[in-house]
Amino acid sequence: MNVNKRFNLDKGFIDKEISSDIDIIAEIKKMKKEKNAIILGHYYQTSDVQDISDILGDSLALSQEAKKTDADLIIFAGVHFMAETAKILSPEKKVIIPDLNAGCSLAESCPEDDFKKFKDKYPNHTVISYVNTTAAIKTMTDICCTSTNALHIVNYLPEDEKIIFAPDQNLGNYIKRITGRNMVIYPGACHVHEEFSVEKILELKEENPDAKVIAHPECEKPVLLVADHVGSTSSLLKFTKEDDSQKYIVATESGILHQMKKENPEKNFIVAPPKDSTCGCNDCEFMKLISLKKIYNSLKYEAPEVKLDKETIEKAYKPIDRMLQISNELGL
Ligand code: SF4
Repeated sequence: MNVNKRFNLDKGFIDKEISSDIDIIAEIKKMKKEKNAIILGHYYQTSDVQDISDILGDSLALSQEAKKTDADLIIFAGVHFMAETAKILSPEKKVIIPDLNAGCSLAESCPEDDFKKFKDKYPNHTVISYVNTTAAIKTMTDICCTSTNALHIVNYLPEDEKIIFAPDQNLGNYIKRITGRNMVIYPGACHVHEEFSVEKILELKEENPDAKVIAHPECEKPVLLVADHVGSTSSLLKFTKEDDSQKYIVATESGILHQMKKENPEKNFIVAPPKDSTCGCNDCEFMKLISLKKIYNSLKYEAPEVKLDKETIEKAYKPIDRMLQISNELGL
């Protein structure tokens, strides 16, 4: 993936130095007020970025919450497709992502041309795309889904419906296994969630027999099969709050541990190890590109802005809206 090329990055701006006399946090708070801005922080951000965020959450929930506010400016501390979704839901607001390098290996694993060819091979199929896609893929989608509602959306469709599921093959195959539905799965994946080692998780489990394994459905099948609970980032967070256990082995991006520890200070959380212990790849390097310094600069200069043309916004909104209608109908 080369996100730099795609977004024509101005690296000089991002790395603009800030005087050491400046209290960055105080200045960010001041500028937010002056500019009627809000900061959206994804659970995979670093702890300091999470702590300065006005709204913290999963990707779609953040954009939905931002839409409800009267903010003029959204600073999205997350990755690019998430900021695009915020723009699709709130076209009248200015949306900024503090570092244009913050892409996503999953969204990038499903380029527009490849997906069009894939889709053409399966006519008369309903396209369900995970929200972790670019706006361009959303314009080719019938219904979006999240890792929380994917199962419900698939089950909502008539039993004989032919379905294309994109772009995450692990989530898609997980849903296909549970529902037994007629689904073809686009072969995309998240490099972070595919890196967890089931062998090392089982070793950890042996050392910590009282620990429960919790995993995001973007993980590979062997990891999902040994998990006590599989769910979206929010679902994992909720599970650790409501469950009686005191210890968890967590197979998702390690940023979520900040909230898990904050909400359950008496419990223990162990990061599930990656296959290659030297790579540190249970951290999403794209998420971790966002920093307080970049938030300060992007708020000050109101750039880099996420821009989408009107037609793309209108087309990409439809599958999101359809998902929300179905979710409402199902009382999700
Ligand atoms: S953790 Fe994976 S799916 Fe999430 S933003 Fe990073 S690369 Fe994309």
